[in-house]
Amino acid sequence: MVVAIDGPAGVGKSTIAALLAEKLNLYYLNSGSFYRAITYAHQLKNEDILNKDAVLETAKNIKISVKNSKVCVDGIDVEDKLHTLDVDKYVSQVSVDPRVRDIVNSIIKNIAEGIDIIAEGRDITTVVFPNADFKFYFDANAEIRAKRRYIQHPDGQDFETILSEIKKRDKNDKEKPVGSLKIANDAIIIDTSYLTIPQVCEKVIKAIKAQDMR
Ligand code: C5P
Repeated sequence: MVVAIDGPAGVGKSTIAALLAEKLNLYYLNSGSFYRAITYAHQLKNEDILNKDAVLETAKNIKISVKNSKVCVDGIDVEDKLHTLDVDKYVSQVSVDPRVRDIVNSIIKNIAEGIDIIAEGRDITTVVFPNADFKFYFDANAEIRAKRRYIQHPDGQDFETILSEIKKRDKNDKEKPVGSLKIANDAIIIDTSYLTIPQVCEKVIKAIKAQDMR
């Protein structure tokens, strides 16, 4: 069984997908963390992050794996390096390159082979698993998403900066030539703006059960 979730940054996909994975006994896969791992690995080399060919070389030459739910690069756990401001700032540009996307997509498909999985990202319902058993698109307005981020990290960036970064990332994600963020025709849309995490989980589980009974 494949449950696929897409949606913009800060909409609650990761938290909710991880909870659903536990409740439904599925393997949880966060596709954004692979783009983040490539971004981080390239930044470590101190090379130009905007040089697409150089980033592609990095992506080709590292081995990305997941061990105990932690993303590893060449066997080393990098999970706590993936959400720095530097990675946040460039990951969307790194993920524009269709060649990088092919690499990430084949890692995801390898992991998913033969297991029940819940995967989330931007193109999971449209490109990676277009035949997923269940598809969801989470949305929330940008101000609410920025506020959630701000509350999570009150000592980090100010609200206005977070909001403008979120809007920039949305624009980038929606305008990608390949793998852009869009709503799959058959996805169930859930607006999480005014819902709690348990309420969103409940909606997803209800939708899965309802579809399962058909
Ligand atoms: O989900 P997260 O915010 O960690 O993803 C980081 C970035 O990776 C996104 O802003 C997006 O540009 C990119 N991404 C993507 N396709 C995915 C998942 C993430 O392009 N399936």
